[in-house]
Amino acid sequence: MARGYRKRVLVTGGAGFLGSHLCERLLSDGCDVLCVDNFYTGTKDNIARLLPNPHFEVMRHDVTFPLYVEVDEIYNLACPASPIHYQHDPVQTTKTSVHGAINMLGLAKRLKAKIFQASTSEVYGDPTVHPQPESYWGNVNPIGPRSCYDEGKRCAETLFFDYYHQHGLRIKVGRIFNTYGPRMHPNDGRVVSNFIVQALQNQPITLYGDGNQSRSFCYVDDLIEAIIRLMATPDDFTGPVNLGNPDEFTIRELAEIVIELTGSRSELIFLPLPSDDPRQRQPDITLANEILDWRPTTNLRAGLLRTIDYFSWLLQPETAGNTSI
Ligand code: NAD
Ligand code: UDP
Ligand code: UDP
Repeated sequence: MARGYRKRVLVTGGAGFLGSHLCERLLSDGCDVLCVDNFYTGTKDNIARLLPNPHFEVMRHDVTFPLYVEVDEIYNLACPASPIHYQHDPVQTTKTSVHGAINMLGLAKRLKAKIFQASTSEVYGDPTVHPQPESYWGNVNPIGPRSCYDEGKRCAETLFFDYYHQHGLRIKVGRIFNTYGPRMHPNDGRVVSNFIVQALQNQPITLYGDGNQSRSFCYVDDLIEAIIRLMATPDDFTGPVNLGNPDEFTIRELAEIVIELTGSRSELIFLPLPSDDPRQRQPDITLANEILDWRPTTNLRAGLLRTIDYFSWLLQPETAGNTSI
């Protein structure tokens, strides 16, 4: 690449939680970043501090429509990720995953650009194998409330691999497990943001079911590092590769840790478990460890403390409406 040349990188969903962190990281790595987002769940506040940077550009666009731009690399993150958001308009969720993938793959094909897909642990559904290796095909209900997301993401993976085989595209598929950190949406219903917001306000902590279901939570900085390393792998490595923190906690344990770290007076209450809620989830990250020389370095308590700081700041009356951090 010519001296002084800045790589032009497209991040779809760049105004969302993960996308905004990725844009920031790419800018600090010396890239020109084009953030494409329709602001369905993302916000301008998430990227407000990047706007003055001359190497950062934002385009309001829905990836279900074709996109003609000139870039060297594509990170495809556009898609609502929290269950209440993706179930709000399930048809649009599937369109975003499937039509969005086709358009971004078509763009990558025309440009001969490398392309990353933000896939998910949800491709494993309610897993019957534990922990989940990449070789596991999953246990997904095709017609349940989570299907628009799970099957949309599975189809997107299929498209990525068909473009790879049929057109020789350079693809990187990362299966992201539950990730948390600053700039999560305070009202998106995800467990970490719900519990922290409830604890900070001394409101009851809402455990769905008996709270014995488990998840493995990855701090956002660790996840972004993994995505960057995945994109830098040789062309013959396509994934899919699990990206997540293998430390597994029950939802009840998470609630107790959040109460302890916030010093909250909240009590636990038990509400019905949503249907098809996966019982257990833990990534087998052997492959990521071998190929990316990566494993998470932020433990749950350290990551939660940083996230609690963010939500404490966000919930101050003078911060309301301004989520730029
Ligand atoms: P998010 O909702 O904060 O971000 C998604 C972004 O995509 C938002 O900015 C939204 O406005 C944008 N978007 C949605 N539909 C779009 C469309 N049709 N056109 C253009 N932009 C659109 O969610 P997130 O947690 O940052 O997730 C980012 C990606 O990572 C998603 O693809 C998600 O499926 C994947 N992922 C996230 C997690 C996690 O734990 N956060 C886990 C697995 C996979
Ligand atoms: N596409 C796009 N930008 C481009 C090239 C293609 O958005 O720069 C979209 C276009 O909508 C097309 C889709 O990507 O339908 C798939 O492109 P591909 O070349 O694979 O197939 P086509 O449908 O053009 O035969
Ligand atoms: N959950 C909960 N209380 C909440 C929000 C979520 O007990 O207020 C549970 C939810 O039922 C699930 C787990 O926490 O078992 C993780 O939920 P989240 O929506 O964060 O992610 P996902 O289910 O997609 O992994």
